[in-house]
Amino acid sequence: MTATAAPQPRRTTRAVRIGHVTVGGDAPVVVQSMTNTDTADVASTVKQVAELARAGSELVRITVNTHEAAAAVPRIREKLDLMGVDVPLIGDFHYNGHQLLAKEPAAARALAKYRINPGNVGFGKKRDTQFAELIGFAIEYDRPVRIGVNWGSLDQSLAAALMDENARRAEPWEAQRVLREAMIRSALDSAARAVELGLGADRIVLSAKVSGVQELIAVYRDMASRGDYALHLGLTEAGMGSKGIVASSAALAVLLQEGIGDTIRISLTPEPGQSRTAEVVVAQELLQTMGLRAFTPMVTACPGCGRTTSTFFQELAQTVQDHVRAKMPEWKITNPGAENLTLAVMGCVVNGPGESRHANIGISLPGTGEAPAAPVFIDGEKAVTLRGERIAQEFVALIDDYVAT
Ligand code: SF4
Repeated sequence: MTATAAPQPRRTTRAVRIGHVTVGGDAPVVVQSMTNTDTADVASTVKQVAELARAGSELVRITVNTHEAAAAVPRIREKLDLMGVDVPLIGDFHYNGHQLLAKEPAAARALAKYRINPGNVGFGKKRDTQFAELIGFAIEYDRPVRIGVNWGSLDQSLAAALMDENARRAEPWEAQRVLREAMIRSALDSAARAVELGLGADRIVLSAKVSGVQELIAVYRDMASRGDYALHLGLTEAGMGSKGIVASSAALAVLLQEGIGDTIRISLTPEPGQSRTAEVVVAQELLQTMGLRAFTPMVTACPGCGRTTSTFFQELAQTVQDHVRAKMPEWKITNPGAENLTLAVMGCVVNGPGESRHANIGISLPGTGEAPAAPVFIDGEKAVTLRGERIAQEFVALIDDYVAT
């Protein structure tokens, strides 16, 4: 049997409309992110939402935890609209969402979706009533919800009931499996209750986030096999820097490869001074390198080795990557399809010409001992040889010309 070099077909899910964005159904996997500003601080939140949207976040979630935050939501929406930033806003509610939505109808309308954590809605009878109130607002304002379970805030009464049930099994499950079952049941039972209350199944997205890669894969595989709700993927508390990127990519790539997942968030803890937009770039690169979507021309670059004597080669790769990323918003309008291009920046003659020929446009820089000449290949053919101090500028100009024609 020959393995195909492509992800498995996407699992069929219900399409959920979130403002002008569709999650699930035939829609491409949607990239989303979340602010880390105090939502009551309108100026900072507007600034960060706009940055995330411009970086490519197609949905942005904001914390709505206080009356001040709820009161700020319509003002945030208004300012974003004035700036031409139409990204749908999602309200993240815990504990008091029912009260905030009741008190601030303008916030309820300004938000395109409500995120509800079944573990943080209330306890006992209160939980049922408050959950019903939240769903009531979703129905009243015709908004979808994400029922977002997180194992850091799992519904404790459900977890206790499942442990009792497990103790009565002839062959009890291991603890991890009980926990997994509790997460999945929390999401599915809450969704079933929301439907019973009158919310359409096509107004519900589910998530069940954990912080371990293998656990996340197991939870989502199981949940995906038990219904057709649209699924939001994310490794919660993924961590900082390369650890967060690697862990998130490892978990999400396995699931996406199996056709599981309709929207993703890469939850990175920003390093001091690092922009929040880094997580959006990682999400886009994950989807693009897997061949699921295209956002910006991809730059192939060799790692460099003893045959490269200067940092010029790395600098050129970075210049090209930054240039195409910066140009993409304009190219999206003037040259649709530019996002599918492949570019190559290679360090020497060993793999340079070969790899450059595979790209739409590629350059093979001279390595140690080679003549100071950099052949450029366009659509597989050697087109020109660059020399001298302006190689970087001339190569970037060739890319712009290629996109324009
Ligand atoms: Fe080294 Fe040349 Fe290979 Fe780049 S292409 S890694 S410079 S041998």
